[in-house]
Amino acid sequence: MKALVYTSPMELEYRDEPDPMPEAGEALIRVEASGICGSDMHAYYGHDERRPAPLILGHEVSGEVVSGSRKGQRVVVNPLVTCGQCDDCLSGRANLCRSRQIISMQPRQGAFSELLRMPERNLVTLPDDMSYAHAALTEPVATAMHAVLEGERLGRRPMADSRVLVLGGGAIGISVALILYSHGCRNIRLGETNQLRRQTVERTGSCEVYDPLNDPAPEADSWDIVIDAVGGAATREASSKAVKPGGVVVHIGLMDNNGGLDVRKFTLQEVTFIGCYTYTMVDVRATVNALYSGALGSLDWIEQRPLSEGAAAFADLAAGNTPAAKIVLIPNRT
Ligand SMILES: [Zn+2]
Ligand SMILES: [Zn+2]
Repeated sequence: MKALVYTSPMELEYRDEPDPMPEAGEALIRVEASGICGSDMHAYYGHDERRPAPLILGHEVSGEVVSGSRKGQRVVVNPLVTCGQCDDCLSGRANLCRSRQIISMQPRQGAFSELLRMPERNLVTLPDDMSYAHAALTEPVATAMHAVLEGERLGRRPMADSRVLVLGGGAIGISVALILYSHGCRNIRLGETNQLRRQTVERTGSCEVYDPLNDPAPEADSWDIVIDAVGGAATREASSKAVKPGGVVVHIGLMDNNGGLDVRKFTLQEVTFIGCYTYTMVDVRATVNALYSGALGSLDWIEQRPLSEGAAAFADLAAGNTPAAKIVLIPNRT
């Protein structure tokens, strides 16, 4: 098969690779679309020691099953492979499974390729007329869905009455805003430093957008929920300032690991802080329904490019040269 292989920092090679061999309980998927994630970029920069080269990246994938009992089905993949037997898996929190593996991290290759092997229980069937490119958004949008649902669970008032601040306007941040809007929230502000991305978020009509570097900071102590989709020291500091007494900070981003939190304020003002990681199968199914129903709008903030030109797509993302909140790579077939 053809695959886009990460060979060394800032280098990707489109080349022939051996076809994956499905194991017991697994199916072979013919990949139809796979999105480039912030975590793929992190690996591409050489910053992720869990993803050493050479490796096929990519975990946001839709396609058609070509082997096993589900052959012929159009599916989206839950890329998180879990044991299915531990306390966390059995209590509906499989995202916390201690033996979890995500594809695009050894021992599992990723999805920037023509074929992918996947446990059959990780596949969710798609409606016949749902586009593969939209379906490939399921993974990042499910991450946003999980975060919004956790914020909703911990918040003290209905979404329709809440003021929510979102930090970051990439695929996760934009999805958070669209999900909040679809849940009735009409008081959403979103901060994003990249001007092209700000315009993309603005066009969705779901929220008010600002530039964290040049516009005044959001009012301090006044947001019921702050959702940090960047996860850096600067956004943690902004979250700490913005959240109101008794409010909730939902932390999804994985940019860096130190600094920014005002733990004293959290203590004195009973702020709830929660980290959110990925999603459960329930979130994945809810996300397919939301994407398909049109509840999240037209989804025109994605850009499709051929897999063979994936290296240029990574370079454009690294340079901040694209307005797209998500680039989806489509394997070249004639
Ligand atoms: Zn992702
Ligand atoms: Zn488990």
